[in-house]
Amino acid sequence: MGEVFRLEAPYREPFVLERLSFGDGDGPVVACVAGLHGTELTGVHALNIVARTLGMLRVRGRVDILPLVNSFGVDQGTKRWPFDDRDVNQAFPGDPGGAPVERIAHALLAATRADVCVDVHSGSRVVRELPQVRVPLSGPELAHARAMELPMVWRRAGDRLEATGLVGAWREAGRAALHVVGGSAASLDVGHARLLANGILRLLASVGNIRGVTDPGESRVDTTRAGVSYHYSGCGGFWVPEVAVGETVGPGHLIGAVTEVIGGRRLEEVRADRAGVVATMRCYPIVHARELLARVAEAD
Ligand SMILES: [Zn+2]
Repeated sequence: MGEVFRLEAPYREPFVLERLSFGDGDGPVVACVAGLHGTELTGVHALNIVARTLGMLRVRGRVDILPLVNSFGVDQGTKRWPFDDRDVNQAFPGDPGGAPVERIAHALLAATRADVCVDVHSGSRVVRELPQVRVPLSGPELAHARAMELPMVWRRAGDRLEATGLVGAWREAGRAALHVVGGSAASLDVGHARLLANGILRLLASVGNIRGVTDPGESRVDTTRAGVSYHYSGCGGFWVPEVAVGETVGPGHLIGAVTEVIGGRRLEEVRADRAGVVATMRCYPIVHARELLARVAEAD
């Protein structure tokens, strides 16, 4: 374990950014980051699985793993940097003389000089996301994304997080950057963490860091925005899902229902309008009108 950055804190242990490095140094370099957001812990577990696996293998080149960036946020159970409530992922490219989040961002960018970079996030506290990689419509990232064989590859024209965050800063610096998402915030989805870890190991095999891999990925959806249906609530109420993330549905399949919070009377049924895989599912049952309930993704 190596310390790559330290920030003195006024009345507690200092903030320390830790990096785990593997490999003989001669070959491709890959960097993997998780825990930029202090509530997104499935990615932390996924990178720890990757690290433990790499510890048992011969690794060519170098793989740098930073499983947890926002450790003070983790301490406090907050997504953001707790003291000024700033989002570390909105502080890139950072500034070595700036506010704490800007200094962390600057150090993180310097600590992830790699050919291929992976940033792992979760859904919000209210939605669970199928393990997926979000990439531009074309370019070098697309082949890397497909090599991961995660349950979903989502080709997207533009993404706010990717434009302003770490992923955007990596692309700006000429590094291939993959935005990976799985599970939901404030909870650990062990199954999703394993899928994410296996995807990252397949990526490392495809670029030549390691040999051989785990089993091939399961059924996958490779799609664009046109292949994804968004389902929003028509009214407020209590959301009762009928299917889970990763399940396959057909047109007319009942996805869930919004019911009265008290009494349970069914107010609204939500049904799939296409065949596909449930890519997103609301996991927090209280819902207001026009909030996201589910996404169904169909391969194009
Ligand atoms: Zn995040």
